Amino acid sequence: MTSVLVIGAGHQGLVAAIHLASAGLDVTVLEHAAAPGGATRSAECTLPGFVHDLHAGFLPMTVVSPAIRELEILGDVDLVTPHVAIAHPFPDGTSIALHTDVEATIASLGPSGRHWREAMDQLLPLADTLAGTVLSPLPPVACTARLAAALRTDGITWGRRMIMSAEALGLELFEGDRRATAWLAASAQHSGLPPDTTISGAFGFLLQLVGQRHGWPLVRGGTGRLVDALVRRATGAGAQIRCDAAVEGVLVERGRAAGARLATGERIRADAVLSTISALPLARLLPPGALPGRLQRRLAHWRYGTGAFKIDYALSAPAPWTAPEARESGVVHVAGELEELARSAQDAQRGVVPQRPALVVGQQSLHDDRRAPAGQHTLYVYAHVPSRYDVTDEDVADRIEAQLERFAPGLRDVLLARAVRSPAATERDNPSLVGGDLGGGSYELDQQLIFRPAPGLSRYRTPLRGLYVAGASTHPGGAVQGVSGRGAARALLSDRRLRRWRAP
Ligand SMILES: Cc1cc2nc3c(=O)[nH]c(=O)nc-3n(C[C@H](O)[C@H](O)[C@H](O)COP(=O)(O)OP(=O)(O)OC[C@H]3O[C@@H](n4cnc5c(N)ncnc54)[C@H](O)[C@@H]3O)c2cc1C
Repeated sequence: MTSVLVIGAGHQGLVAAIHLASAGLDVTVLEHAAAPGGATRSAECTLPGFVHDLHAGFLPMTVVSPAIRELEILGDVDLVTPHVAIAHPFPDGTSIALHTDVEATIASLGPSGRHWREAMDQLLPLADTLAGTVLSPLPPVACTARLAAALRTDGITWGRRMIMSAEALGLELFEGDRRATAWLAASAQHSGLPPDTTISGAFGFLLQLVGQRHGWPLVRGGTGRLVDALVRRATGAGAQIRCDAAVEGVLVERGRAAGARLATGERIRADAVLSTISALPLARLLPPGALPGRLQRRLAHWRYGTGAFKIDYALSAPAPWTAPEARESGVVHVAGELEELARSAQDAQRGVVPQRPALVVGQQSLHDDRRAPAGQHTLYVYAHVPSRYDVTDEDVADRIEAQLERFAPGLRDVLLARAVRSPAATERDNPSLVGGDLGGGSYELDQQLIFRPAPGLSRYRTPLRGLYVAGASTHPGGAVQGVSGRGAARALLSDRRLRRWRAP
């Protein structure tokens, strides 16, 4: 039987394993950590009874992903969709929020609501097609043609807007309204791109559009329940998952991938290897000459973005936000005015820990009673910071807490416990998250589409026979969407049918 080693039991590795094992291949997933899940795990990391999403907490891209829909895996978990998806409070106590009800979003935007209505009249019916285009293997010809046909001449306007910065897109869309722009641009934070960077507008807008269509769901009981479902599916199809099995090298023999060497020295032979780890650690696993020099250099010099500095809190009561919409929302973007949002992102890019860091805050326990003991709550918080900095972790955590207090005065009085994870700690835990970068490498234009990570690797095959690549450094990048795991598995299965990868 054809044997395949999958490196990494994050969700992409598990999706790949499901496809490969279901096709009858002998699949072993090798995982560095003590448990599967990668950046989709949940744990009681503060106090017993408080379940925290350690990384991914909200799944808008998951629900629209064709790869996830095809697996029908979301039927195996219980999704909860808060009716206020995202609240963006301002220092004066007001806010703008993305509600699942489009009329409520329009009302929240005030005078700029009419621009949102106009955009949603046009794009809301196309939200799934647009998301499907972004989440398609390259080149996404059919979806793009469908979009172009539906949008007609406006396709040019929206095509242009998709390469704009979030700031420029927002200011154009909302005719100069800086608060509405801050609300839109704050969603670009999830890509790690500063709001004044080319194409950050596409990230901010797409996440808001998908949120308007489907909300920003979370998994009841923790994102880790999705991992449990994927593991059940993979092992049910016959895949084996070996944890505490860090791969230290890919074996290359007679010009093809022939297995893996573990950190323990154990060598495991296989007919093919499918790696889901990000570009730089993959480069380190490959012996010199395994790939053409230009590709090996591209992987070795892959550019990572800022790191996520994560704090999970156990609270004795809900966070006391001044803005009423923030008291109900699943996510709160604590960034304030547009200038503050931009300054925070630019500081982090320049290697400085922002004094007032822009924050992504999750309030899972408000919507899911399995996350905390009755009456008590969790709070999920991260900021983008440089991957290395010259202040202490305590200093960074203090700045984050001071920023939370500005918008939720009295929060400190309800804190029971906190678990802090610096970018360095994140990388130790999961070596694929280099420098704590949540996206598997910067999303700037030169690292997108066929450049993710390089022409010749972006469609999941490599010039080394028997080696396939998936994960966040490949198209379409990070987020829980299963696209590259499915794509790499399909490439392998089709090569096997064509006998392209058989040993000579
Ligand atoms: C703080 C944070 C918040 C996020 N929030 C969201 C969110 O709300 N929604 C969303 O959709 N996405 C979110 N993301 C992004 C998303 O979680 C990831 O992009 C996605 O889970 C990556 O999946 P993956 O399978 O490609 O990689 P990973 O999940 O990183 O899996 C890679 C696996 O490989 C293992 N590994 C690494 N090196 C080796 C080795 N040498 N040998 C064996 N195994 C190895 C790792 O331990 C890991 O388990 C977030 C990420 C972070 C960090």
